[in-house]
Amino acid sequence: MDVMLPDVNGYDLVQQLSKTEKYKDIPIIFQTAKSSSDDLERGFESGAIDYIRKPVDKKELKARVKSVLKIKELENQLYLKSITDYLTGIYNRRYFFEIAAKHLQFCQSLNKNLSIALLDVDFFKKINDTYGHDAGDFVLKKFAEIIGLTKRPKDILARYGGEEFILLFFETDKKEALEILLSIQNAIVSEIILFNEMEIKCTFSCGLVDLQEFAGSLRIDDLIRDADKRMYIAKQSGRNRIIYEG
Ligand code: GH3
Ligand code: MG
Ligand code: MG
Repeated sequence: MDVMLPDVNGYDLVQQLSKTEKYKDIPIIFQTAKSSSDDLERGFESGAIDYIRKPVDKKELKARVKSVLKIKELENQLYLKSITDYLTGIYNRRYFFEIAAKHLQFCQSLNKNLSIALLDVDFFKKINDTYGHDAGDFVLKKFAEIIGLTKRPKDILARYGGEEFILLFFETDKKEALEILLSIQNAIVSEIILFNEMEIKCTFSCGLVDLQEFAGSLRIDDLIRDADKRMYIAKQSGRNRIIYEG
């Protein structure tokens, strides 16, 4: 981008773009006749990733673009790592809270519903003790994979903790979410997980809530706390079940 543009100042434009969701991740290189070090400093301060003084040498431009693309690629890789659970490859807890807060705000402002389910593998410690820790890891991976294949693409799945998973059903009431959870339950209980010729079966307990059960303004933690309470009731009342009331 040039700095001296017909109807706008390049520095201001870069600043504006950096605040726009759609454009904020696009790296911008200034290419300008404004060549003082003050200009260059201002260019970088406005948010540009690089600054080339005119006349532009084609080879230099190419080399700089290449270097920016490399930085961008590394940045993307780092970002993906920061939102992914290392074992299962699904989203991690940190990212879940980030995205769930946005979704909650959206649904609350438009008076739409949203459901949250907390899933905890039953007797997982026993799986570790019986088959070994690696088998336990394998079960968690498989668990995430099965849920990933059964949920709808728009449902957000994350690893909440050790053997706990969380699902957010956007613009969905708990009746509809329950249908999906029952499909997941069905897929999990009918799966025999094979690990080093050992056959492992597992189930999960689940607590489900939706936004419209609650009055007033809520935070995502409030919904999770109540989903957790129901999950605990599911454990106490015999496991391998989904509790969505009480
Ligand atoms: P419950 O049915 O009441 O949920 O019993 P549980 O055995 O599943 O629950 P508990 O909280 O007693 O044990 C969970 C176990 O999960 C303990 C911990 O060592 C194990 N765990 C946590 N994270 C991992 C992991 O990443 N890999 C493996 N293999 N085990 C894990
Ligand atoms: Mg647990
Ligand atoms: Mg458990």
